[in-house]
Amino acid sequence: MKLALHWKILLGMVLGLVYGVIAASTGLGWITSDWIAPFGKIFVNLLKLIAIPLVLGSLITGVASLSDLKKLSRIGGKTITIYIATTAVAVTIGLLVVNIMQPGKSLPQDMRTKLQSTYESSVADKEEAAGAARERGPLQPLVDMVPSNFFSSAGNNRNMLQVVFFAIFVGIALVQVGDKKRTASFLGFFEGLNDVVIKMVDTIMLFAPIGVFALIADTINAIAADDLSSVWELLGGLGFYCIAVVVGLLLQMTLVYTTVLKIFTPLKLGDFLRALGPVQLLAFSTSSSGATLPVTMERCEQNLGVSEEVSSFVLPLGATINMDGTALYQAIAAVFIAQALGLSLGVGDQLTIILTAVLASIGTAAVPGAGIIMLVVILEAISVPSAGIALILGVDRILDMCRTVTNVTGDASVAASVAATENQLGTPSFDN
Ligand code: ASP
Repeated sequence: MKLALHWKILLGMVLGLVYGVIAASTGLGWITSDWIAPFGKIFVNLLKLIAIPLVLGSLITGVASLSDLKKLSRIGGKTITIYIATTAVAVTIGLLVVNIMQPGKSLPQDMRTKLQSTYESSVADKEEAAGAARERGPLQPLVDMVPSNFFSSAGNNRNMLQVVFFAIFVGIALVQVGDKKRTASFLGFFEGLNDVVIKMVDTIMLFAPIGVFALIADTINAIAADDLSSVWELLGGLGFYCIAVVVGLLLQMTLVYTTVLKIFTPLKLGDFLRALGPVQLLAFSTSSSGATLPVTMERCEQNLGVSEEVSSFVLPLGATINMDGTALYQAIAAVFIAQALGLSLGVGDQLTIILTAVLASIGTAAVPGAGIIMLVVILEAISVPSAGIALILGVDRILDMCRTVTNVTGDASVAASVAATENQLGTPSFDN
């Protein structure tokens, strides 16, 4: 029987969930961590393995293929403008939802105290990680973007923004050299690299259903730690907060992206969702838009009809700087913590949240759990004690899965929009 890829991934996910719950409730969590979780790690490692070669290959060839710098600045300008606009809208939606639903006020006092003491030590870790971010000057993010040594940037997937910077710089220089003959072998290498990496993605995706099964089973295992009742208790207490985040994310996807697609593209929503299905499922299972990037690019090009020229520029950039789901979540989380701690936030504070959440989401790495670290920076900006993240740490993994889905959906809808405005959006195709 030949099932489409997204059905296979979905099946892996559901089976992983069912198995994970059974294993955790029967005390067989060790089987999951010893014999199943490693396959999830292997799957994510494979995706991460090709992330840097993919960004290098696709961005260098992508920028170099833009025949002149005028075209580059036009596409670049459009891309960044839509990215920032959709992120600002996302934060605003987050603020509206959290102010209307007021989830922080529904948390009972004893629950707050209990949560805070449970996660005290984890908070110390996160605060340490955020410490460096807090003491930085206003222009530090700009400094961080420009590497002093390319090889040390390429040695760590967290430095993706530096690799993006380097690749765009090389691409621009290639356009400036102009004479195609002189750069043919250099460019040919990266074109070849690009083709090879895309084939590697195909191979890795064959393994996706198993990888997703293992990832979901392991997540359940980690949250439950052989005691499922604690998960229900936590979800019960923080349920309203989780619902607020999910409602915000759904609004962003159903209102904002459909509007963006409607304004800029002739795409049917059904086709968009069909093309993106596997990407969203993968984002949900890996909680990493960086790890999902190879598949986002493949689906956008092969199924959605986005030209390689646009996708290879817009998507790697988006995976690193465009995180609407993260920004929306950060806004809700910040206000939720303030509400739970009984602190009131004025209009000025809410405006500060908009600004800092847009910037923080740009600076958030495309890896699991990065959003909550940058949340500390926002909390500092509005003078809410950062130890408050203890309240939400327990459910962060689940929300991370959800916000990553929004992040990748945002990237893809902007890629389709930019392609359409450049006359580079073909008809969707689902032959493969
Ligand atoms: N996991 C998210 C991503 O990779 C980032 C975050 O919000 O933690 O898109």
